[in-house]
Amino acid sequence: MALIVHKYGGTSMGSTERIRNVAKRVAKWVRAGHQMVVVPSAMAGETNRLLGLAKELAPARPGNAYYRELDQLAATGEQVSVGLLAIALQAEGIEAISYCGWQVPIRTNSAYTKARIESIDDQRIRADLAAGRVVIITGFQGVDAGGNITTLGRGGSDTSAVAVAAAIHADECLIYTDVDGVYTTDPRVVPEARRLQRISFEEMLEMASMGSKVLQIRSVEFAGKYRVPIRVLSSFTPWDIDIHEEARSGTLITFEEDESMEQAVVSGIAFNRDEAKVSVLGVPDKPGIAAQILGAVADANIEVDVIIQNVSKDGKTDFSFTVHRNDLARTLDVLRQQVVPALGAADVVGDARICKVSIVGIGMRSHVGVASRMFRCLAQEGINIQMISTSEIKTSVVIDEKYMELAVRALHREFDLDQPADTLQGA
Ligand code: ADP
Ligand code: ASP
Ligand code: MG
Repeated sequence: MALIVHKYGGTSMGSTERIRNVAKRVAKWVRAGHQMVVVPSAMAGETNRLLGLAKELAPARPGNAYYRELDQLAATGEQVSVGLLAIALQAEGIEAISYCGWQVPIRTNSAYTKARIESIDDQRIRADLAAGRVVIITGFQGVDAGGNITTLGRGGSDTSAVAVAAAIHADECLIYTDVDGVYTTDPRVVPEARRLQRISFEEMLEMASMGSKVLQIRSVEFAGKYRVPIRVLSSFTPWDIDIHEEARSGTLITFEEDESMEQAVVSGIAFNRDEAKVSVLGVPDKPGIAAQILGAVADANIEVDVIIQNVSKDGKTDFSFTVHRNDLARTLDVLRQQVVPALGAADVVGDARICKVSIVGIGMRSHVGVASRMFRCLAQEGINIQMISTSEIKTSVVIDEKYMELAVRALHREFDLDQPADTLQGA
């Protein structure tokens, strides 16, 4: 008997028929003797629908009070899901009880729309499990110290599931989704993408942080911190497939490299269309400039990603960086009001039509020339690189958004990702 957490994404919960399938699958795991906690997302499209309604009515300059209500609203999608899933399980003859984040409680900070989990009380969950019930907990939501409902950012149900798994010391957290595992890149963009049987935790962390939305980055961070074994697998297999086969399917995120892992230099390609580029033009090239520009942005609670400062001509230089697209207007406001006049800069411009494409692989640690191969490949496709950033196991470029798919496909071919790489065992 094991203690297992299942997470089901929006598509997997997309209709009552699909919810019935989820219930039948969970019932199969219960009947096999496992203790089960299930974390579902809102039904497909529901979070977008709710946020769309808010947008129609939103004030011109939304502030914290607005974001509080946005969370109050967006969290309802998951409440519907847990109720329906508990009912569907009861219809299968399984005892089930559902909870919202605040009822557990899953405590978070007060950063509405991107709250972080601070602690999870496992008492209620444990008592229900001990009483033989399946416990169903809303994904995506929590509660802050003031009793306000918070949400964890888009895709946050992954994080809820892994955090709950960590809190109850689950044996495994199975993330059921609409693809059958983690692929070399998004299979919707590159049909030749290949499913990986295993991916290292470090690579998964980079893939997620570089924009691969199959797992929310914070869920991978939690898995690393608390060593939660995670498997990503399909919820679209027949619910009655053999449970042992199901338990081995999909992609396992591993913490140790072992001999059966592929020895590829590049393991995957991620892309992200959510960023925008901001350039402060004609700033004096002297000490303290970066601190002044980025300090003002950080004070406004805006996260900065890729940064680039050009060499100066006549003592003046341009300073560029990327932020989330949702933060672009606010960033431009802050810079125009506080930084441009103080620095005597010429202007500030924003460009939302960019994307970031990244190659990721732990093999990059021990191979030279991987980045230059990436740049050559993009050059051959006539794609101009606007910014570059690297870490030990990834290289990212910022390019014009209209070349995103072309770049991802060309890089996928360049690094032979459609072919299985050697394993040490197989080599
Ligand atoms: P869910 O609603 O189940 O959480 P998401 O839409 O959030 O599902 O995440 C699954 C999607 O992630 C897939 O449908 C796929 O398009 C996308 N995706 C992006 N990168 C990858 C990747 N490397 N491997 C698999 N899927 C990926
Ligand atoms: N329902 C939320 C969203 O659409 C959370 C999730 O699906 O993980 O972002
Ligand atoms: Mg998701």
